[in-house]
Formats: sequence, structure tokens, C-alpha cells
Amino acid sequence: MSQCDRCGAELPPGSLKYLITIHVTADFDGVLPDQGDMDDLEAFMRTLDGVDPGSAGRDVYQAQGFLLCPACKASFLADPLGRARTGEPPGPGGRMH
Ligand SMILES: [Zn+2]
Repeated sequence: MSQCDRCGAELPPGSLKYLITIHVTADFDGVLPDQGDMDDLEAFMRTLDGVDPGSAGRDVYQAQGFLLCPACKASFLADPLGRARTGEPPGPGGRMH
């Protein structure tokens, strides 16, 4: 039987549940840190050759999936970045700025 990845509640077959998929991609704005000549670019590429491809890939793209019960899905959507301070229940209409 499936379980909520957040609170551990059992999610029987046919019950309402939500799959949250988070895609994290590096935001490339088209600007390289060093816009030097071709020699610099080649040196830069050589430094990449020494990097473990797996870890370099995780820096650029990551995806994670979570199965959530309805309550945890609502809680996640209310504060997806976990910015709400603990011990301070979110008021109606969200936080004041
Ligand atoms: Zn849950």
C-alpha cells in the first residue's frame, strides 16, 4: 500500500492522493562568468573534464517525486518553499509583508 511521503499516512488503492514532482534546473542566463578568448574557453572545458559527470549533472538538473495525502498536498502548496516560521500558524490570506 502507498504511503504519504510527508506524514506517513496510508493511501489505500483508489484513495485521493497527489504526486508532487519537483524539477530543479540550473538557470543559465547566457552569460559565462569569463567571456575571454578561445584559449580561456578551452581551459574551462578542460576543468569540466575532471569533474565527475554524475555530480555535474545533479548541479544542472534534479527531479524528485513525492506522493502526498490531500492534507499534506494542501500544506505543501500553502508554503512550497518552507518559508513560514515555525510556531507561527499562517494567517488567512497568507503572510503580511
Ligand atoms: Zn500526508
